[in-house]
Amino acid sequence: MAMFKFDSLIGGAWVRGNGEAFATVNPARPQETVGSYSSTDPQLLQRAGEAAAAAQAKWRRVAAAEWVKTVTAFFQAIEKRAEEIARSITLEQGKPMAESRGEVSKSLGESAMMAGHAMHSGGEVLPNARAGFQNMVVRRPRGVIAAITPWNFPILTPMRKMAPALLFGNAILLKPSEFTPAAACLIGEAALETLPEGLLQIVLGGADVGAGLVSLPQVSGITFTGSVATGRKIYALGAERLAELSLELGGKNAAVVNDVADLDACLDQIAGAAFMCAGQRCTAVSRVIVAAELETEVCEGLVERARRQVLGDGAIDGTTLGPLTNAGQLERVDAMVKAGVAEGAAVLTGGDRASLQGLEDGYFYAPTVLGDVKSGMSVARDEIFGPVISVLAYANIDEAFTILNGVDYGLTSSLFSDRMTVIQRFVKESESGMLHVNHGTIPDNHMPFGGIKNSGVGAYSVGASAAHFYTTEHSVYVRPQ
Ligand code: NAD
Repeated sequence: MAMFKFDSLIGGAWVRGNGEAFATVNPARPQETVGSYSSTDPQLLQRAGEAAAAAQAKWRRVAAAEWVKTVTAFFQAIEKRAEEIARSITLEQGKPMAESRGEVSKSLGESAMMAGHAMHSGGEVLPNARAGFQNMVVRRPRGVIAAITPWNFPILTPMRKMAPALLFGNAILLKPSEFTPAAACLIGEAALETLPEGLLQIVLGGADVGAGLVSLPQVSGITFTGSVATGRKIYALGAERLAELSLELGGKNAAVVNDVADLDACLDQIAGAAFMCAGQRCTAVSRVIVAAELETEVCEGLVERARRQVLGDGAIDGTTLGPLTNAGQLERVDAMVKAGVAEGAAVLTGGDRASLQGLEDGYFYAPTVLGDVKSGMSVARDEIFGPVISVLAYANIDEAFTILNGVDYGLTSSLFSDRMTVIQRFVKESESGMLHVNHGTIPDNHMPFGGIKNSGVGAYSVGASAAHFYTTEHSVYVRPQ
């Protein structure tokens, strides 16, 4: 019996069309069905676009303070469901309950910060160039937003899109990942209690539904978080219609270990950033670029921390590392590690699937540290998205920067160093959207979130920068008669 059963949320009601049924399973116990859903068929998708446009036409006329009041009530209705949402995340995505609870509270924390920004992002008044004129730049709601999200953060990523969309006067059509729709659907229940009908629509399904969604004529902005390959397809679909885009894509994030006073604290940060969510975070540390003289100590410290991880069902207390989210992901991670070994990397620990007693079918991968990694190897260049750290040694700081920036991605990076000149160079030269000095890669609730190079296109999300995507900008010249 499925614990969660949902259809599409359209025009203020859950509706079932003729779309295919699909189910989600618990990745720790894949024989267990968690959710039962129906995909949104093309007719329903069309209805969703129309309902969103109608709802937005009314919502855009509401005062901004009322947007904040109504959407804050929506956040409160989500908060009431926090434990149920956290549980749904652990059951469908696999992460330990403590992480799921943390994800829910971070989502609400970011959303609260966004509510603050909503009352301060109206635009600006500029000096005039012609006597008697009043010059202003004003911002208006963009309109109907299409949002597509991945499976690794089933509430955080949808909320990062929903909160600014609604707070800036838009309607939003959300398609959560087909692997983890429960959290978004529980948010849909909160929307039914608190939001005007049609303002939040949830459509369900995979690639076809996603492609149909971004092609709806009512959509004026597309926000996507997911892989580079899918991002490219969505970019092409958006280009067809000249829709505004915000793409948040993958990463190959590095921690550079240069010269640290407290190596233990540094390795705790790195291991945390690498193994949280079983490494399935776009901001996970995946490469450790270490000064050659510290290589042995760093490798030993990381191996020790990998072996300390408690693998298991995320619903069970004490688990620190859950399964990967689906069978395809398990295959992918294993194939990438094996390819790395074939290219010359050494397995210092892990390097294989993990079979746990009583959970033999679960999608578990042993926390892995790979040594002797060279910058040309696939494990040094491609996103693995699993609990795997590749360690690369450097002889001098120039080489460290060459390795750091020698990948196609540019999401986040961290540097551990006591040397001001190295820190200053890192801040100027690290090719990533988010830079951390002397800590892991956890972002704050009010700071812009995004990447450069293949890690992102368009405005960053979170905090004030979200206004650049969720509103349109207008230059206004007022000359009294
Ligand atoms: P994915 O690209 O396979 O899927 C993401 C979403 O896109 C899903 O909802 C999926 O159904 C949908 N989709 C797939 N094909 C589509 C198409 N042709 N048209 C429209 N929609 C389509 O990604 P995933 O496997 O779910 O997530 C893992 C990836 O997400 C990793 O690469 C990770 O780095 C990235 N990610 C990035 C960030 C960030 O903020 N930069 C955050 C989380 C995850």
